[in-house]
Amino acid sequence: MTADNATKHTSPFDEVNARIDSAAGLAGVPEEALPLLKTPYREIRVQIPLFSNGRLQQLTGYRIQHNAARGPYKGGIRYHPHVDLEEVRSLASLMTWKTALVNIPFGGAKGGVAVDPYKLSESELYDLTVTFFSRIAMILGPSRDIPAPDMGTNAKVMGWAMASYGRMNGHTPAVVTGKPLELGGSVGREDATGKGVVIVTEQWARHEGRDLKGAHVVIQGFGNVGSFAALHFEAKGAKVIAVNDIRGAIKNDRGLAIGSLMEHVKETGSVAGFKEADELDSAEILYQKCDYLVPAALGGVITGENAGRIQAAVVVEAANHPVTPEGEEGLHKAGIIMLPDLIANAGGVTVSYFEWVQNIQQFAWDAEKVAVELDRILGGAFTQVLEFSEKNGCTLRQACFALALKRVYEASRARGYIRI
Ligand code: NAD
Repeated sequence: MTADNATKHTSPFDEVNARIDSAAGLAGVPEEALPLLKTPYREIRVQIPLFSNGRLQQLTGYRIQHNAARGPYKGGIRYHPHVDLEEVRSLASLMTWKTALVNIPFGGAKGGVAVDPYKLSESELYDLTVTFFSRIAMILGPSRDIPAPDMGTNAKVMGWAMASYGRMNGHTPAVVTGKPLELGGSVGREDATGKGVVIVTEQWARHEGRDLKGAHVVIQGFGNVGSFAALHFEAKGAKVIAVNDIRGAIKNDRGLAIGSLMEHVKETGSVAGFKEADELDSAEILYQKCDYLVPAALGGVITGENAGRIQAAVVVEAANHPVTPEGEEGLHKAGIIMLPDLIANAGGVTVSYFEWVQNIQQFAWDAEKVAVELDRILGGAFTQVLEFSEKNGCTLRQACFALALKRVYEASRARGYIRI
């Protein structure tokens, strides 16, 4: 396998585009088509006034619709202080390639608000969500653009979002996924991304003639994705030996008891202070010796500067874009395998697709059907990635981008958007 020809890139969006360039030849997509495929279709930036305790805050929200050649725009909404246009652009683009890779009938989009949701009261969070969604509602819809949760948002926020859209358009559950079950959410959506992380990792292990029993796992971030990935790793007999979150880090070489840890986080808001573990310096989480290192928080955490300190055999990209191109080059040189975000965290959008299907049909699936279909779609897509990578002697990431790019290019040609 060969690593991407990484050079210094200036933004996360440039970094995603460099990966597209690197896969275009393998995908058989002509160079002239690339600018159109890389550029977002529409970018909206809205003002969000937030009144609290007699104070007025001026927040900024974004929704970026990247590509809809294969179906309605689809992608999460992030509430985080670091949200900016370039980051949302890169995440919107990644969604285009992710939905194409798992071959579900969606395009790609992403949205976000630059705010720390943990510093807001529940009523402020509600006001912010209702204002944001009312200001982007004109470009949303079940056949136009369908948001979902991401960092800093959850099922509760999606319920408020659905209601905000519904005030103008009537009750429309299929306009947003990741909703509470009472509002048409799907069973199996809450843990879908974390579960998908483990499905892909186990398939990789089997491909290498191993299983997950006894494997040591370290996870950065213990929110929706990190905590459920931990639970599913534990269920497969792996030992999750260290985790962190924004407030602290913990370690137990015998394996953390994930069910009790999740209870502890529910009660205290953090993994810090969990009794059945030792405290760890949070800055050291990525450098623990383990079989599988799972970044499940922010993007860009493994870079050219720190890649040399990683002591894992495999990096499983649960977060979006956790490894920069320079970081990728460093990991590749050290012989560390990367299971790319496009496939590793695609379980969430796959079950979001099931939720949308159920909402449109007004017919709920049971947990078994969700589990069987998730295995079929995600497992099938990863088999294609493994075969493509072996056949073409390329990295798993290049295989992911090449397969996805070819599908989006072909759909664009079929629509007549691209006539080359
Ligand atoms: P979340 O808000 O539920 O959890 C984020 C976790 O990361 C929290 O534990 C938080 O404390 C921690 N965190 C934040 N900043 C940190 C830092 N600087 N150092 C260490 N920990 C930090 O978010 P989530 O939904 O679990 O998303 C995590 C990642 O997974 C994001 O990159 C997101 O884009 C990606 N992702 C999420 C989904 C989904 O379905 N939720 C799907 C695909 C990809």
